[in-house]
Amino acid sequence: MPKIPFPKRKVPRRVAVEQFAILERTYPHAETALTYENAFQLLIAVILSAQCTDARVNATTPALFARYPTPERLAGAKAADVEKIIRSCGFFRAKTRNIIACARDIVERFHAKVPRKREELESLAGVGRKTASVVLAVAFHEAALAVDTHVFRVAHRLGLTTGKTPLDVERDLTAILPREKWRLATHWLILHGRAICKAPRPLCDRCPVADLCPTGAVILRKKKAGAAFLRLHRPD
Ligand code: SF4
Repeated sequence: MPKIPFPKRKVPRRVAVEQFAILERTYPHAETALTYENAFQLLIAVILSAQCTDARVNATTPALFARYPTPERLAGAKAADVEKIIRSCGFFRAKTRNIIACARDIVERFHAKVPRKREELESLAGVGRKTASVVLAVAFHEAALAVDTHVFRVAHRLGLTTGKTPLDVERDLTAILPREKWRLATHWLILHGRAICKAPRPLCDRCPVADLCPTGAVILRKKKAGAAFLRLHRPD
């Protein structure tokens, strides 16, 4: 399927607000699909989830946390042992280096506690803005909106942003929503991206936001035109 171009202009603010209201009603129990018991486990799970499904991470972390339940234990781990456990998550050598270094940072610089400030989180090995946002939003219930590949794609298709970078997208989305909705909006967009607004083939005819979506309007129009063409040229 050819790549679906993003709209070149943003939708008006009132449309954006209505789109979010529909997503909120559609995904009332929005929460992370990663399983975790504390901020440390969530942080490690989010690092492992790069280029990997949450289901795969959830299948891996029980063994990892059984052996290394605390930052201190993971900080002292041998890379080869960790690699064996997280191998199926992809990029396992780099991820092993990152999670061990991250655990060491937490132990040496933050008294073995995951820090709660964005700058401190982003100073940990392997932690960028998106990972820090997930930990702030999910573990600490802070106002933060994480832009992953689903959020980036769905926000563009809906015309909520024309931003070139994840930070541009984050700025556009947080300008539309009140602070208390930021953390939930991440989940609405991720869930919608996984279930309906899929990367190669969005299911626009099943989408609750289709009437307000500039991309959906184009896709559905093309689909209708294609169906009419086939009807006209059907052999009798
Ligand atoms: S209408 Fe289509 S492109 Fe727009 S949000 Fe829904 S699934 Fe995505």
